[in-house]
Formats: sequence, structure tokens, C-alpha cells
Amino acid sequence: MTRPIQARIDAAAFRHNYLQAKSHAPRSRAWCVVKANAYGHGLLRCAESVRDIADGFALLDMAEAEALRKAGFTQPILLLEGCFDADDWSFASHQQLTAVVHEPGQIETLARAQCPKPVDVYLKINTGMNRLGVLPATADRMLEGLRASGKIRQITLMTHFADADGAGIETQLTCFRSLREAHGLPWSTANSAALLRFPEAHGDWVRPGIMLYGGSPMPETMPAAQVGLQPVMTLTSRIIATQSLQAGDQVGYSGLFIADRAMRVGVVACGYADAYPRHAPSGTPLLVDGQRTRTVGRVSMDMLVCDLSDLPQAEIGSTVTLWGAGMPADEVAASAGTVSYELFCALAARVPVIT
Ligand SMILES: *Cc1c(COP(=O)(O)O)cnc(C)c1O
Repeated sequence: MTRPIQARIDAAAFRHNYLQAKSHAPRSRAWCVVKANAYGHGLLRCAESVRDIADGFALLDMAEAEALRKAGFTQPILLLEGCFDADDWSFASHQQLTAVVHEPGQIETLARAQCPKPVDVYLKINTGMNRLGVLPATADRMLEGLRASGKIRQITLMTHFADADGAGIETQLTCFRSLREAHGLPWSTANSAALLRFPEAHGDWVRPGIMLYGGSPMPETMPAAQVGLQPVMTLTSRIIATQSLQAGDQVGYSGLFIADRAMRVGVVACGYADAYPRHAPSGTPLLVDGQRTRTVGRVSMDMLVCDLSDLPQAEIGSTVTLWGAGMPADEVAASAGTVSYELFCALAARVPVIT
């Protein structure tokens, strides 16, 4: 018998969500954002499920790009942080990858690179997020530099929104609009939040990420199910021990939970070394045998504890759903003060994945 934790990855749900994203932006092509091992879901597993329908894949590790090419994917692949040195440019040229250019140094490394074939680039404009990108005032010089290199084919303009899930994109989109109108180049701006909220930001290519994995970028105002998304990762385990507590008894490290009455709790084989956020407080929801209950006490490395007071039938061996089908990851994330992105990306190598 092995430790009972497992993550089920529902490839059909991933495909469904990609089609859903496309239906929200019917006039655009859609990068399937699969960075960080497809947000923890497995790069090839997810890519395979959309092999015949994906317009392109966006990621940032050269090794991930290479893995897709080796697996026979012929779609465009967008390198979201671009090339880090001249070798990367050569690689991008050989493998026909599309590279983001976000700072002038990348044009200098391009000059030194051996490029057998011209490379498509995305020129990234900093419209206010102040992370990656050149200021609009330097865009002209960057475009000249790229064209003068003689190694570039198609240029697309892009920007990234800081608050598409919150205050909005108005200021950033206005800043970007005048630039793209002046140059008449193809453009790409929308992450999942902008894709769902702002059709005016769709452009030639949208860049959905989290929504492909069934997470909502705005869980409070647009729950994932409401926008037609299905969970892709379902993390389950089992109860491996139970304890009967008296009023005043503590649970787990630091005694963060103290029973206010006699109650029964179950110990679940899942901890922060598996994926579960350590800072999830008592009261974070989970399912035991399909019924909703709550965590109690501090999450430890390999275990967490849940309340079985209202679940008299629950016993050692009962199935526990930490998140996924029936238990939205967005709810668990909200309780833990984080986002579903972080839960998914935290899935540890020791958790067996089944499909
Ligand atoms: C990760 C990423 C996305 C996808 O964002 P989501 O919020 O997951 O939809 C889009 N664009 C860029 C540049 C990114 O780095």
C-alpha cells in the first residue's frame, strides 16, 4: 500500500477550458500559457490534450520549449521572458520560437547570435506594470534596432496588465493603443482576467493561463464554474488516523486549534510538502467522502487535520478532496490568503499523478 495522496489531471477539462477561452475571444488566436510545467499540471500532458487545436504555446524555459518541439508540436512557441543570451537566440532561430524582447540588451545579444532562420519577436511595452518592457517613448528605437539586425521576421507588440482582475486596464490600454495605432503591428495584451472582462483588449492573440487550469482570475466576482471552466487538477488523499478530543484538547503544532467541545478529528495524508499551503488557517474547506468540512490546526509537512464532528461515518480510509472536482481550488486559496496559481504550482514531485 502506498501513501494515499494523488493528483488527478483531467486532460479533457484542460481542452474544454482552452475552447472556452477561445469562445470568449472568438476573433483572436490564443496562446496556451503552459509556463512552470503548465502551472504544475504537467507540460506535455496538457499540451497533448490540445495538440490539434492550440494556436500556440507560451512558456519561458528553453528546456520546456525544446520538450514541445521534440514531442512534435509545430505551433508557434512564445518565450515570455525572451532570450537570455546569444545562444538562446540561436536556439530560438533553430527551433522557430517566438521571443519576447523587453530590454535593449536583448538586441545586442541578437547581434552576436548565429541565426540560420529569421525569428519572430514580441516587443514588450511597459505601460505601467513596471516589471518587464520598454517605455513607449523607446519603442521606435527598439523597432529600428530589431529591423536593422536583419534577423527578425514578424514583430508583434505586447503589454501585460497589472490589475486586469481589479481596478482595470484603462490607463494601460490607452497608453498601448496610441503606440500600436502608430505602428499598425499585430498585438497581444490579454491574460485570463482581461480576456474575460475586456473584449477591447483581445487583439490578435490572447494569453490565457489560469483559466485553462480551471481557476478564476477573479474568484469573487466571476467564479470559475460561472464562466464555464472545469477543474483540471483534483488533489485527493485519505484519512489515515482519527482522534477523539475533549473540550480543551489541542491539535497539531503550536496548539493553534483548541476543541471547545468533545469532537472527532481525522488526520489526512497531505501536508505542505505535497502542495497544501501551510498558512491555510483552521476552517479552510475540504471534502471528506464528498461532504464538506474544515481543517483544524496547523498544516504540517506531511499531514493536516480535519473536523469529523458531523461525519460519523468517516473513518480511516475515507477519501479526502483537498481541491478540484467538488471543491474549488479558488475557495481553498482564498481561505489561505493566496491564489489558485500558487496552489497548483506547488504540487510536489512526490505526489503521484494519475490521468
Ligand atoms: C503568465 C502570463 C500570462 C497568463 O496569465 P494568467 O493570469 O494566468 O491568465 C499572460 N501573459 C504573460 C506575459 C504571462 O507571463
